[in-house]
Amino acid sequence: MLFSVIPGQVSVKQLLRQSVQRQHVAHAQLFRGSEGGAALALALAYAQYLNCEERAADAEDSCGHCPACVKTAKLAHPDLNFIVPVTSTKAVPKDATSSKFMAEWRAFVLDNPYQGLNDWMQHIGAENKQGSISKEEAGQLQRLVSLKAFEARFKIVIIWLPELMHPAAANAVLKLLEEPPPATVFLLVSHAPEQLLPTIISRVQPVVVRPFSENDITAYLNEQHQVPAVKARQVAQLAEGSLGAALASREQSADHDYFTFFVAWMRLCFGYGSKAADILKQSEEFQKLGRENQKELLSYSLGLLRKVLLFGIDPKFVPHLAAAEQQFITGFARFVTPRNADLLTKELTDAHYHIERNANPKMVFVDSSLRLGGHLRMA
Ligand SMILES: [Zn+2]
Repeated sequence: MLFSVIPGQVSVKQLLRQSVQRQHVAHAQLFRGSEGGAALALALAYAQYLNCEERAADAEDSCGHCPACVKTAKLAHPDLNFIVPVTSTKAVPKDATSSKFMAEWRAFVLDNPYQGLNDWMQHIGAENKQGSISKEEAGQLQRLVSLKAFEARFKIVIIWLPELMHPAAANAVLKLLEEPPPATVFLLVSHAPEQLLPTIISRVQPVVVRPFSENDITAYLNEQHQVPAVKARQVAQLAEGSLGAALASREQSADHDYFTFFVAWMRLCFGYGSKAADILKQSEEFQKLGRENQKELLSYSLGLLRKVLLFGIDPKFVPHLAAAEQQFITGFARFVTPRNADLLTKELTDAHYHIERNANPKMVFVDSSLRLGGHLRMA
């Protein structure tokens, strides 16, 4: 994978490149970031950059076409090794270790490197079983690192989700980190580094991977997946920095324009006098969305409300708004102040809670609308 195909993440890419350019490659590094983020993709791009055979000393990226790059990009380089959580499945009924799942792992990562543990477990057909890095993996790891690199400068071992290591596997890894084999680089990719042994943490160089920005996700969906700009922004706002979540939800929510719904809804709530009939009519529209989309609409509304509040405090807090959003937020900001923000937030959170617990959507909608109206008039 090339660094350039990963959206954003400018400063961490820079740090990773510099470590190679200055020949300060730590033998063990911990890419820590939330699920759906860039941690695994960055580790893969870094591995490719490290072993690229035709990269100029100060190149921004690996060349992408030398034999090492081609094999690494396909995750088929003999010196690129993976340890990942697995479990027994129909295909592998016992002694499940990473090496038995490598074909599945390649397909999974090459399809989309921003997926999470649950996606992986579904991919291998784990049903409801938990994945882990078993104690049998410790032996595999020993054998793996006892061999010299076959053809590359560095032998690379990527451990995906080391927080799921069995204690025996964790101890084996710790021993390797204490007495690192030559020309071997361990890249640990973790979503929950606080669950790792402190002795492991103290021996790895941290690489902090921030969630994707809303703009990076919007641009990625728009440019790489041809999601129309307005929908892309809506999906990005719901994804909260997870490109994995954005990619997974781009199809479902792409059919609904939550922004337009929210704007119409707030106008209704704010209206004085005999608006009950209009609210009822809108509640039918809400009902039609179906429960999953109702929840998504409410989450989206919370996100937008937060932007409105921040904009009211200082427009600089919410840069890069889409034009329609900018116009709405500018007007609406006068009605959302620190006086009523908590009440409005609570109303939307409560509505989400009730929808999740199978309350009647029309009733939830009408109740919330009336109370939101009251709160809005307080501003
Ligand atoms: Zn190359």
